[in-house]
Amino acid sequence: MKKFVALLLALVMVLSLAACGSKTADTDQPTDDGDSAAAEFTTANKGVLTMATNATFPPYEYVEGNQVVGIDAEIAAAIADKLGLELQIEDMEFDSIIEAVKSGKADIGLAGMTVTPDRQEEVNFTETYATGVQVVIVTEDSPITSVDDLFAEGNNYIIGVQRNTTGDLYTTWDLEDEGLATIDRYSKGTDAVQALKTGKVDCVVIDNEPAKAFVSEVEGLKILDTEYVEEEYAGAMSKDNQALYDAVNAALQELIADGTVQSIIDKYITAE
Ligand code: GLN
Repeated sequence: MKKFVALLLALVMVLSLAACGSKTADTDQPTDDGDSAAAEFTTANKGVLTMATNATFPPYEYVEGNQVVGIDAEIAAAIADKLGLELQIEDMEFDSIIEAVKSGKADIGLAGMTVTPDRQEEVNFTETYATGVQVVIVTEDSPITSVDDLFAEGNNYIIGVQRNTTGDLYTTWDLEDEGLATIDRYSKGTDAVQALKTGKVDCVVIDNEPAKAFVSEVEGLKILDTEYVEEEYAGAMSKDNQALYDAVNAALQELIADGTVQSIIDKYITAE
């Protein structure tokens, strides 16, 4: 009999916990937008939207004082606000973001992350919210004057990249695998740029906005006019939490539609 009561108690506890969970999820909902797709959702931590990022990617994410700021941080804050959640930002290696999202430790990876077919197998991407361009940084006196120079047989340049970014993936496939260049991988974009400055690499392939920020800080460097490739940024989310994905994506779509995302981008990036 005792056993039965204990079992019953355990069951009641489980049920009330579940009820508690869904109640929280209910109160997490925006009240006024009639967005029925996102009826209930759970997050890594109750009442919190946990964003995984790598804060060495200005102006999308960088550290100011002891805070992570930038376009992605502000977009995440606006999404969290819409969903009635607090925002918490976890700064980690770029390489670890997808795993953090897949394991459910983070709710969303926002890191100027490019949508690629390989990554799409691992995570669900939100609506895209910005365009990125892979560009080439060289020293002012560099013999490299266009992207084509990297592909020319016999040049065999050493190219600095940030590990596992699209700059790394594309140059590896296009150039290193073809025996046309050597890729030198760094954990931060700034480290690759330092390697260029000190002559360890011949150029750096990286996203255009951080490239502009890095070049403005390090003397003697420039960005080539020709672009390596254009790409789309989106948030990375777990494939196992459809309700949260629906809620976050709906919030992001609203923020794109009402111009909030553009105004955040415009705050950080002045049109040329
Ligand atoms: N857009 C690039 C990528 O997704 C770089 C992102 C980053 O370094 N934060 O790989």
